[in-house]
Amino acid sequence: MKVVKFGGSSVANAEQISKIIDIVAADSARRIVVVSAPGKRHSADTKVTDLLIALANKVLAGEDYEAALQEVVARYAEIQKDLDLPEAVVATIEADLRGRIENRGSNDLQFMDTMKASGEDNNAKVIAEAFTKSGHPAKYVNPGEAGMLLSDEFGNAEVLPESFEKLARLKGESEILIFPGFFGCTKSGDVATFPRGGSDITGAILAAAVKADVYENFTDVDSVCAMDPRVIDNPPAIDCMTYREMRELAYAGFGVFHDEAIIPAVRAEVPICIKNTNNPSAPGTMVVPRRKPEHGSVVGISSADGFCAIYIDKYMMNREVGFGRRLLQILEEEEISFEHTPSGIDNMSVILRSDQLANKEAAVVARIKEELQPDNITVEHGLSLVMVVGEGMHYTPGMAAKATEAFRASGVNLEMINQGASEISMMFAVKDSDRVIAIRALGGAFFH
Ligand code: ASP
Repeated sequence: MKVVKFGGSSVANAEQISKIIDIVAADSARRIVVVSAPGKRHSADTKVTDLLIALANKVLAGEDYEAALQEVVARYAEIQKDLDLPEAVVATIEADLRGRIENRGSNDLQFMDTMKASGEDNNAKVIAEAFTKSGHPAKYVNPGEAGMLLSDEFGNAEVLPESFEKLARLKGESEILIFPGFFGCTKSGDVATFPRGGSDITGAILAAAVKADVYENFTDVDSVCAMDPRVIDNPPAIDCMTYREMRELAYAGFGVFHDEAIIPAVRAEVPICIKNTNNPSAPGTMVVPRRKPEHGSVVGISSADGFCAIYIDKYMMNREVGFGRRLLQILEEEEISFEHTPSGIDNMSVILRSDQLANKEAAVVARIKEELQPDNITVEHGLSLVMVVGEGMHYTPGMAAKATEAFRASGVNLEMINQGASEISMMFAVKDSDRVIAIRALGGAFFH
């Protein structure tokens, strides 16, 4: 059994919806279909979720919201017309939106969630009708009734553990189930949404709950690229990677999906396949719990800017019991999280996202000076992290040498190297201005 999720661009209009019907019909294992709200039809378009947020804001501000409401209705009307569905579909959606506005309670965050959730909810109803009309009987599933129970952190809700057992019952259904993504319901019956992009989370929860053989996540790329295609022309595609590899890559800028979104599927060890709605015969990228490490193989190279390093020198630091703890405690007390802490005998550095130090840098440096009495402390901004990731890298001698030789040949000065404790990645810090050169150099070394 497969759980299939289609993102906003895959359900943006009738043409795309017809594609997803064909995709689901082509494989009888595709039984639970999670859908987003209609996304962008072209790059200058606006997602229905953003239209709904604008509408809700107008309502909250007490402004005239009629035009904003009609903009949302128009998106569904276009889909209804092009799919040749009954006109009543649109009237129902309009009445639903007006009902949500009229029944607004006193909690504005909850109201915002109710409005946002209508995007996927109404789309799922329309898509279920479209399936049935084209000869593939399908049923809309109401997430709250099915047992998608969420915490009441509106806009940022989390699934409650008891949901899994309840949702497992969906396995017994014989029809194709169309399940709206992005939202569920609190124990007191209020609609609540996950963070933006949360339909991925819905799919991962369902895949875990029904113990799916695969969680297919359809988007608009054939596969995940081993490097950022905006930086490298025609980067190689990744056929298969492990959850750990994906997490390491996602951490530094891999944008196909938010790695935290798939945690439920990862915990349940459901393999994930990323596929293209516009080219479904392409094999896609598999993300699996384990794979046999290939000798020396690098699966991907990612990078992100916006980091800084605090360098601290103190003679005989290695003898000073508790130095590291006290340093990290200062950061903790200042509510700063860190990314890496490479250290030497007499020095320690902490890499963190620069925005963490905004408005706090002087205070943090002053505390470190006073409480740890270092010989020297400097903060360097404008750093990028470049990650080289691959299971099996660890077993292969010469990987770091290969990378550093590539940097030398391209004139990139390395600020820092860290072979992660995970043993599946190497992290290099370079100046922001060297980031693109560094990635190209590594791409040449590892993929050509
Ligand atoms: N429609 C929601 C958003 O735009 C959720 C999703 O598409 O995953 O964030």
